[in-house]
Formats: sequence, structure tokens, C-alpha cells
Amino acid sequence: MVIAGPCSVENEGQILETARAVKEAGASVFRGGAFKPRTSPYSFQGMGEEGLKLLQSARETTGLPIITEVLNPRDLDLVVRYADILQVGARNIQNFSLLKEVGQTKKPVLLKRGMATTIKEFLMSAEYILSEGNNDVILCERGIRTFETATRNTLDLSCIPVIKRMSHLPILIDPSHAVGTWHYVASMARAAVAAGADGLMIEVHPNPEEALCDGGQSLKPNRFEHLLKTIAPIAAAVGKKMPQAGN
Ligand code: PEP
Ligand code: MN
Repeated sequence: MVIAGPCSVENEGQILETARAVKEAGASVFRGGAFKPRTSPYSFQGMGEEGLKLLQSARETTGLPIITEVLNPRDLDLVVRYADILQVGARNIQNFSLLKEVGQTKKPVLLKRGMATTIKEFLMSAEYILSEGNNDVILCERGIRTFETATRNTLDLSCIPVIKRMSHLPILIDPSHAVGTWHYVASMARAAVAAGADGLMIEVHPNPEEALCDGGQSLKPNRFEHLLKTIAPIAAAVGKKMPQAGN
């Protein structure tokens, strides 16, 4: 499974252009945040429902299912009306009331590991969703905080074999938030596939320089397309099938 798209929904042109490009390159799910968990309250917070509507038109245009973050239990009913997959972000990993509420929906949930969450805690958070009756949980490692500053976070690739041993749930890798700089994204994406990841989440933006959020870690569409081509033989070598480009 390859999830790709911009950090945030910004406008119609940006969304439709990116959705078409990632579909053409072979992505299987389109991403974009309409409710953004930003460190500063003065940073762009997302377009809210207007953003969800743009994601819906991206789905209508490309046929790709969409994933978007639900930040607050109050917005859950709204987000459920638009999203095919609900994303619970790193900062909400132990928001147990949100986890229980997404567990009561019938939508698949992608749960991102917190930046200071052990694997055991990560799996117990997943358990909050499962225990409410929702079995469709996808785990996603997005980097943990260490003393290293050359990258935004440190990608814990060893969580892949650990989680494979401890859980039946699929584990995706998000190299974009892990490294925080587009230069290192392709290398870590390939390593993740080699290590047995079940999929990737990658930020893609047509004009990263102008992105309202996470531009520095976003791949341009042509780089994303090239990346997927280089991943295909690695996926084949570990017995995994890539989604077909343009399907
Ligand atoms: C995101 O996917 O854009 C995001 C905010 O990720 P995380 O929750 O991993 O920081
Ligand atoms: Mn982001």
C-alpha cells in the first residue's frame, strides 16, 4: 500500500494536481490533512470541512480512496462522512477517548506512533481501537524523538520485525515525517520495504517551496514517481507486490 499526497489540503489546484500525479505514479491511497496538529497555534491549522470537500473531489477525479486526520472527537462524524481511512496522528496516540471513538466507526484507522511511544504502548493504543470492535487498524511508524538533530526524528525501522513478531496488524512506514528533509526520504522508503513494511506513507507536493506545511520533506511528483520505480524490485525481492501505476 502506498499512501501519498501533501501534508495539508491548501486549494483545489494543488489537490487535484497532486492526486492525479500520485495516481499516475502508482499510489494506492491519496492523503491530505484538513485538520492539522501544528506546534504553533499561529501556524496554518488546515481548511477544515472545505478541505474535506476538496479531498472528495480528488477521489471523484482519480478514484483513489482518501485518508485524512481526525484531530478531535468533536470532528469525527464530519470526517467519517468524507474519509475512506481515518488517520490518528502521532500527537493523539494516547488520546484514549479519540481511540475509543474511532474504534466505534466502521472505517479503517491508520494509527501513527507517537514521538515518545514505546512499541508496547503503540500496540496498546491500537488495542483501544480493536477492543471497541473495529478490526481494521493499520500501524504507522513516523520516527521517534532522539538526541539526533540532523533529521527531524529518528526512523525506528527495527519496529517492523518487532511488530511483525508481536502483532498481526500491518505496519506502514512514513519516512517523510521521520527524516524531515526530502533528500533522505527515498533511501528510508527503500529500506522500509526491504525490512518488510506493508506499505509507505509519503508526502508529495507539486511546489514544495510554497507548501503551507512540511514542504521541506515533501517530494516533487517526478521524484515520487522515480522512487516507486526503484522500490518495485525491492518489493519483489521480499515477496511483496506494488500497486499498479495508474490503476
Ligand atoms: C501528518 O501525517 O501530516 C502528520 C501530522 O503526521 P504525524 O502525526 O506523524 O506528525
Ligand atoms: Mn506533514
